Formats: sequence, C-alpha cells, structure tokens
Amino acid sequence: MKAKGLSRQQIERSAESVLKDFSPESLSGLRRLDVERFYETYLPKRFGINTGYQKLTAGIHGFTNPAKLESAVEIQLVEASDRATVRFGRSTIGHEAGHCVLHAHQFKKRSETEAFLHDHHHAPEQRLFRRDEIKPYECPEWQAWWFCKAIFLPRSVLSKEVERGITVRKIADIVDLNPAFVEVRLRNLQLLDRVRAF
Ligand SMILES: [Zn+2]
Repeated sequence: MKAKGLSRQQIERSAESVLKDFSPESLSGLRRLDVERFYETYLPKRFGINTGYQKLTAGIHGFTNPAKLESAVEIQLVEASDRATVRFGRSTIGHEAGHCVLHAHQFKKRSETEAFLHDHHHAPEQRLFRRDEIKPYECPEWQAWWFCKAIFLPRSVLSKEVERGITVRKIADIVDLNPAFVEVRLRNLQLLDRVRAF
C-alpha cells in the first residue's frame, strides 16, 4: 500500500502538533509519554477512531483498519508482567497511533480488508519498502514508525539531552521504552555515535 508522500520533517511537525495538544510538557523536556491514554482517549476524541486492546490472532501485535476507523493492540502486550514486553507494547501503541493520525482518514474509502496488520516482521527500522519498491517516504509503515519515534522522543528535546551527556539506558528508563528502540531513533537522527550505552 502506498501512502501520500511525507518527508521526515512533515512527520516530525505532525507529531509535535499532536504533542502540543495532548502533552505540551513533552516538548520541553524528556519524559514518559502516557501513550496508553493518548491511544485510548485522545485518538477517539480528536480523530474519531475506535481504539482499544483485543485478544488478536497469534503473532499479530496490532492493526489499524481505516475503512472501519478502528485500531487495536494485542492485550497481552499491555498486560504483560515483564518490562521488555510492556515497553514493546508501548512502542506498538505508538506505531498504531501513527497509522491513526496519518493514515486512517486518508485510506478510509478503501476496502475493509486493507488494514495495516502487524506481526513479528514489524520493526522500527522498516526495510519492507525495498521489497515493495515503494519509496520510504511513501511507505505507510515507515511513516507510522517515524511518527511513533517522534512522539516518544521529540527531536529537539532528545538533541538537548544528548548534548548534556545522557546515556541510552537512562533515556530508555525515562521514556519507558526498550533501549533498542531508543537506539534506532538516535541512529535516525545521526546522534547515536555521540551517546554511551550505559
Ligand atoms: Zn504499521
């Protein structure tokens, strides 16, 4: 599926604009985004999308269905007792939120079978577009991941913290996400070589 092209800059701005509305304090310092509340209450209210947690088919982490204006994340991810799974669930919610904000209304005239469906191939560093011969900026998966990374780790806030000498571990603990996710964001912004792991 090909989406309306969006540059990194446009996605950053779109993420900043929803943060300004939902959690303006996220733009002044690094903090834990209440992405669960964003997904559960803000998206239905502001974007008219029915969101929630469901028991999904084995191996499916989440989906967003534009025709039905519906989005869900696997309930076991949010109810897990280990931190890595809960954090993975948080990044999955952020990704579905990206589809809700960027794509749900754009694709709502499509058939109900054309949902964004996510299994274990799904990762914040998407290579799919190479196989599909879609340019990254037109790939909805790439766009949704970029949005997800931008709401959890706003660029200007993250750059400031890097200048102050923060570590990957410390960032991961503050924002409550897995270090691997934080590393992808830092690499995307060409900041990773300036940050120590621990
Ligand atoms: Zn997706």
